Amino acid sequence: MKLDSDLYAYVWKSSMENNCNSFVIGGDVPVIIDPGHQHLVKNLIKQMEKDGNRLEDIRLIIATHGHPDHFEGTQTFARGGVQVAMHPDEENFLKEIGGQFYRVMGGEMPEVKLSFYLKEGDLKVGSKTFQIIHTPGHSPGSISIYWPEKKALFSGDVIFPMGVGRTDFPGGDGMLLRESIERLAQLDAEWLLSGHGEVIKGRQNILRNYAYIRTNYYDYL
Ligand SMILES: [Zn+2]
Repeated sequence: MKLDSDLYAYVWKSSMENNCNSFVIGGDVPVIIDPGHQHLVKNLIKQMEKDGNRLEDIRLIIATHGHPDHFEGTQTFARGGVQVAMHPDEENFLKEIGGQFYRVMGGEMPEVKLSFYLKEGDLKVGSKTFQIIHTPGHSPGSISIYWPEKKALFSGDVIFPMGVGRTDFPGGDGMLLRESIERLAQLDAEWLLSGHGEVIKGRQNILRNYAYIRTNYYDYL
């Protein structure tokens, strides 16, 4: 679904199966954020094609974190010269307990080589500039991506509409998640594009969502 020029959201609707939302950023260097589960990638590709976004157009894959429901499908997109990027703490996590997590969930970690690391600060992709924010808590190397031009915030599994990322998985940390949420709350966002759940549009709705999370989740983190 097209949200704005060069901004597309593929929101996972099925309640029967866990998969993440995926996002495509068009333009001179097309990007996909979180391709999702491998066996559901064909569904994503079909949805993308309706918007004229072809698999072979994607040049960069950004992983908000390494959990299977976000990262597994990377292997389909990471072909030829397509680049793959994640935070270095997440790569270390995947080499250890995060990788075992795949086997526990009955899958195999995708065999992809990272092209570069996502670190705190500006990320230039073609003519666009994004801000990478290290937001640990759900996993050690979780990142969020802020796109100032659109005031769009891709929050991965840090925050959702009326919810937060789980902290009971290996590498999770409730206090760190709280700190990460507060950092994201400082940003001037008109789009909240979470790893699960619906898209939230409008600054006031996004602020209301932070307020809800503070009231209903912080005591448990
Ligand atoms: Zn996750």
